[in-house]
Amino acid sequence: MLQQTQVKTVIPYFHKFVKKFKTIDALSKSNEKEILKMWEGLGYYRRARNLLECAKILVKKHKSRLPRSIVEIKKLPGVGDYTANALLGLVHNEPRIAIDGNVKRLFSRNLNIEEKNIDFDKLIEKNKINLFKTKRNADLVEALMEFGALKCKPKDPNCITCCLNKTCKYFKSDKKINNIRNKMIKNKNYDIFCRVNKKQQIALTRNNQISFLKNFNLPEMKETNIKAIDKNWKFLINYKNSISNLKLNINLYYKFSNKLPPRYNWYSLNENKEFVPSFTKKILKKLTTLF
Ligand code: SF4
Repeated sequence: MLQQTQVKTVIPYFHKFVKKFKTIDALSKSNEKEILKMWEGLGYYRRARNLLECAKILVKKHKSRLPRSIVEIKKLPGVGDYTANALLGLVHNEPRIAIDGNVKRLFSRNLNIEEKNIDFDKLIEKNKINLFKTKRNADLVEALMEFGALKCKPKDPNCITCCLNKTCKYFKSDKKINNIRNKMIKNKNYDIFCRVNKKQQIALTRNNQISFLKNFNLPEMKETNIKAIDKNWKFLINYKNSISNLKLNINLYYKFSNKLPPRYNWYSLNENKEFVPSFTKKILKKLTTLF
């Protein structure tokens, strides 16, 4: 189902499909009309026909099991090298890697060698002891694909938080990446001003000026400007926090006040019915110590 189709599109079809056909035997007893009806809207109908045909062959020739031989698996309709390796790894935990675009990119970046200059089969053979030493081959097949798709993404790899960045040659050597890395980590200093009243409520607003926190319930928050802090605000605590690529250094101030500024609402410090980000929750917890 995932060939040429995004995961989010496939999910409802997949659920419907496995609910209806719980086993290979059940699928093999279906017919083209029924399968195509279930596939309606997903496109590439040859996949559906192949799947039905595969089920019939597996039931008839392989006792409803996936063969262990790659030669036999590749005889199944629609199954080439990639699918055969994926199946052997995922189903039989065989030491194999399904080499798709995501996996190629991950290896290529790690070695800092262009994809077209890598013989992936040789590379895997040469490194098989290290690659497969955990014996969790099914997990490895899946993890490599997911890692390439979600972390070592084509345009904007998440190198900063990547667990491979200490050994990744691309990250270490490529100037562009280093520039991105330097640009990515930003230190920011903020002051947060909490108005609290005697009913143990805090004034929060969604209308703060901090772009990455827009639309969250927060107290007043400004970039630090020590000179502009009114002496009525009492310093409470300093926090260090990280949000995506920002390293935040935050000073928390408070004052008791019954005045609610425009576009603020009172929220109980102890019982919050509306969604507040976990960062705000931390602040609320700290403020309860004032009472
Ligand atoms: S450090 Fe960056 S380029 Fe290297 S593997 Fe991780 S995400 Fe990919």
